[in-house]
Amino acid sequence: MKTPTSTRREALSIIAGGATLAFSPACLANSKRPLSKLRFLVASDTHLGYKNSTSAEKRWIQAAAELKLATGDLVLHLGDIVDGGREEQYEVYLREREKIGKPVYEIPGNHDPLDLFRKHIRKQVDVAVDHEWLKFVLVSNAHTDSHDGFITDAQLQWIESQCVAAKKQQQYVMLCLHVPVHSNRHPDRGWHVKPEHGQTKLYDIIERHKQQIVAMFHGHFHNGIRGWKDDDGIHEICLPAVLYNLDRGLEKQKAAGYNPLEFRPGYTKVTIDKGLMTLDYKPLGADVSINKKCEFDRDG
Ligand SMILES: [Zn+2]
Repeated sequence: MKTPTSTRREALSIIAGGATLAFSPACLANSKRPLSKLRFLVASDTHLGYKNSTSAEKRWIQAAAELKLATGDLVLHLGDIVDGGREEQYEVYLREREKIGKPVYEIPGNHDPLDLFRKHIRKQVDVAVDHEWLKFVLVSNAHTDSHDGFITDAQLQWIESQCVAAKKQQQYVMLCLHVPVHSNRHPDRGWHVKPEHGQTKLYDIIERHKQQIVAMFHGHFHNGIRGWKDDDGIHEICLPAVLYNLDRGLEKQKAAGYNPLEFRPGYTKVTIDKGLMTLDYKPLGADVSINKKCEFDRDG
């Protein structure tokens, strides 16, 4: 697994029965003040009502039960709560969400019509959530009639204002958008925010504020953990889907970026401590406590 686009060495650990990746976001390495250890959880792509069967509901029931027990202060859901805008499924989603017993913050995906998201999830769609020293900036960038992402000028302005506010508050920013911003093509899915749909302007904002921005999180890809890091960029990472994940053979085909070989349905435990961000991919129902860990260094 070699990524020619990155200069910084990072550790990647693979655990049999899960994938754990450790990153060192540049902005945290430069932090002048000690930052408390943060732990939170990330779910994505529950697609309730998928194929009009109860399989997605069963996965979500299991995921919610595991999220309840997992250590983490809050849960992010990175979009595609229901499948194909099935309105009655928001009730199913909320019923299990209640049981998690932690704050849950969603962003809409291309399967979540905005009017339904506003009605069932949250009136204000784009929001910033402050958690200790980290500001989650949650942005709706999906349209129901496209797999690509779109960021309006008004949203770009708002994102930049959040970066400015974070700096004033001595906070860092985690950008969360359903559709990845990073360009990608076959063997990847190819879906992203095209330059004219906000990609160029968002990268300009990231360049201006990268001393505040930890990483970008996305859903949408159903490819386990699939990420990229350009030379001067931040990590842009699609996180595992709860419903299903597919192996697209990206590592075999030497696609740019990283995609550890774990594709079971699951969620992610995120820990940020002492400048290191760890993503721990938890397959649903897997007992990872008995697995052996092997580690190796890579360019990532
Ligand atoms: Zn999607």
